[in-house]
Amino acid sequence: MKIAAIRTIALSCAVDPPYASAAGVQGRRGALLVEVETDGGIVGIGEAGPGGGATAAVIDKVLAPLVIGEDPLLIEGLWQKMFARTRQFGRRGLVMQAISGIDIALWDIAGKVAGLPVYKLLGASRDRVEAYASGGFYREGKSADDLAGEAEGYRARGFRGMKMKVGRNPSTQTHLRELLGQRAFCEVDPEEDLTRVAAVRTALGRKAKLMVDANCAWSPAIAIQMGRAMEPYDIYWLEEPVATDDIEGSAEVARALATPIAGYETELGLYGFRELIGRGAVDIVQFDLAWSGGFSEGRRIAAYAQAHHKMVAPHAFAGAVLLVASLHFAAAMPNSLALEWDQNPNAVREELLQEALRLEPDGTVKLPERPGLGIALDRAAVERYRVA
Ligand SMILES: [Mg+2]
Repeated sequence: MKIAAIRTIALSCAVDPPYASAAGVQGRRGALLVEVETDGGIVGIGEAGPGGGATAAVIDKVLAPLVIGEDPLLIEGLWQKMFARTRQFGRRGLVMQAISGIDIALWDIAGKVAGLPVYKLLGASRDRVEAYASGGFYREGKSADDLAGEAEGYRARGFRGMKMKVGRNPSTQTHLRELLGQRAFCEVDPEEDLTRVAAVRTALGRKAKLMVDANCAWSPAIAIQMGRAMEPYDIYWLEEPVATDDIEGSAEVARALATPIAGYETELGLYGFRELIGRGAVDIVQFDLAWSGGFSEGRRIAAYAQAHHKMVAPHAFAGAVLLVASLHFAAAMPNSLALEWDQNPNAVREELLQEALRLEPDGTVKLPERPGLGIALDRAAVERYRVA
């Protein structure tokens, strides 16, 4: 069997009204799908990280010529070849995201050839995974009561945990938001963030897990102040408190707080996570499969985390293919904690699959038992959101 063709499909949809984290305002959502076609007729589907047309160009112009004509089941060999042949301009960023999309599609092919779901091909640890509702964004006119209502909705549907945004504050002692623009949109004082967290904790009850995500907004000193102020609300993890590259600062925050520090979705690859884990910057390791090298690199990061007695909680905040890939990964790895299930309006996550994922009454998601990722795309939905 040989790889015959690789296709990229960029999807984009508007979200109205827009919603915001400390890192930016979302007025659109997108996903870059990657289809790897074999000469035997099997087609694997993957998803690559954000970057849209630029990531697609890396796949089309740089990576496809390296793997077309090769055996798609030499997954590790192809991964290493793509990584090595792009080392002068790759290693992280767009190139790693492009490799991720191809890698996920190759594992889908391997599962289809073997007649096994990917999570079993990887050596399954479990056949269902606890999911948490990822939401709690800022929106214009959204009060703490509105946010509490959102949290109650998740609890009523069976979620045993949720994540909300913090850190969209006027002063964070960093210039991140100034650089990202739309600074004044939904800005809240730190006290209001604490009110929002308190309202969500009350709505969820004492037992549910509550995670907060600062999206790299804070200085270490503010992260420590805010982290301490949030301790009464029993925070399950504090995500990306400081800048991704402030490894010492994140380690300082982790040492100062009883709350575990999770991150950093914005770091990529084994060598990036080697630093975050090895230098004590994170307690919970949170890479994104579509950014950080797919299943192949993801399991290396998870093994490195395991060697340091750390749990992994894959980040997943894009299209439906990444969500399902993350589910397989979380079911396979012994030290995975939970599946991130974005609950914000996003058509390229909600409408793309012929059979959508379902939350079980106990707050878990069952793994599809069909071969590969076990998904079929709704082609009409793909066409609806395809970027010309
Ligand atoms: Mg995050």
